[in-house]
Amino acid sequence: MRIGIPKEIKNNEFRVAMTPVGVELLTKQGHEVFIETTAGEGAGFLDEDYQSKGAVIVPEARDAWEAEMVIKVKEPLASEYRYFRDDLILFTYLHLANEPKLTEALKEAKTTAIAYETMVGADGGLPMLHPMSVIAGRLSVQVAAHYLQKPMGGSGALIGGVPGVKNGKVTIIGGGVSGQNALQIAKGLGAHVTLLDIRAEVLTQVEADYGHEVVTQISNEVNIREAIKDADIVVGAVLIPGRKAPKLVSEDMVKQMKPGSVIVDIAVDQGGIFETADLVTTHDDPVYERHGVLHYAVANMPGAVPRTSTIALTNVTLPHAVQLANRGVKKAAERDHTLYSGINLYDGKLTNLAVAETFGYEY
Ligand code: NAD
Repeated sequence: MRIGIPKEIKNNEFRVAMTPVGVELLTKQGHEVFIETTAGEGAGFLDEDYQSKGAVIVPEARDAWEAEMVIKVKEPLASEYRYFRDDLILFTYLHLANEPKLTEALKEAKTTAIAYETMVGADGGLPMLHPMSVIAGRLSVQVAAHYLQKPMGGSGALIGGVPGVKNGKVTIIGGGVSGQNALQIAKGLGAHVTLLDIRAEVLTQVEADYGHEVVTQISNEVNIREAIKDADIVVGAVLIPGRKAPKLVSEDMVKQMKPGSVIVDIAVDQGGIFETADLVTTHDDPVYERHGVLHYAVANMPGAVPRTSTIALTNVTLPHAVQLANRGVKKAAERDHTLYSGINLYDGKLTNLAVAETFGYEY
């Protein structure tokens, strides 16, 4: 199969869909890989690195998009919609629940669109989201601690405190992959941590891991209000797969937070859980203030660490890309149930239930 890898064009997105090692594994099986020039540069992979693994370097995005299958990192932007065709397989993060225009464009073109984020593993987990959620979770607290500094506009509190000075408080809403990785870093920095989730088993597991060093609470409106009002950092790490994130933190709750505290809405790529996180930001200008509280709402947080992210992403996408390349969509999906669950659009139809329901289709 001919496989295209265009350069990512989203603001400050330095990841690339595949490492040279990934390319080598594809070309060794007889596939042709066309990579747009400098696509890997931001992640530290040069054109020569890819060429030495058998890739063809192409000068324009258009040349990569001409392939039978395009592998990407982020959802296509409006300027890329013109490349959609009915004989194209697009394998990437799509987050369609939050992207009605993109969904329409793919539907109209009858492009086969396979979304990493809806692919479900044998254990019921989300293997393509997992590594990026690990990264976003770990970054969230690191970034928030940075913005808590006075020169960055924050309250001027050191999250871990010092001997004789109480540590700060981190509240994490959602205790899945990103939430638990945020927890790990928050504990590492010496913060006092409260974690909320609607699933009791998550709270049980956190207690098993951390004992009484972490306060766990079931997630509801009352507990959220209580847990964030004295927090220095609040991390939103909620996911309902394929759906828009629920607005769990109202404007009124944010008004009650301490001045100079920091919100990181990791779930902003699904619409966000904070009513006040009404702007999606970029790495260029990541933070804004509402009611004295700093809001960090970058939808592609792992883009800040493209080297780590690109390798971590290739680790999980490659086996499925190989299946697609070797067998084509239909046969690959028959054998690979994880891949099957990622098909969001096929022949002009929405084929993912949660995404379809978001757009008002009934089952
Ligand atoms: P996950 O499925 O591992 O965890 C989500 C958790 O939210 C689950 O434990 C679930 O029980 C919990 N939850 C659901 N409803 C809740 C509620 N009402 N209150 C509290 N908890 C609730 O998901 P994840 O992998 O951690 O991803 C979280 C979000 O982060 C997703 O929207 C994902 O797309 C996003 N994400 C964003 C970035 C970024 O750069 N901004 C990067 C990676 C992931």
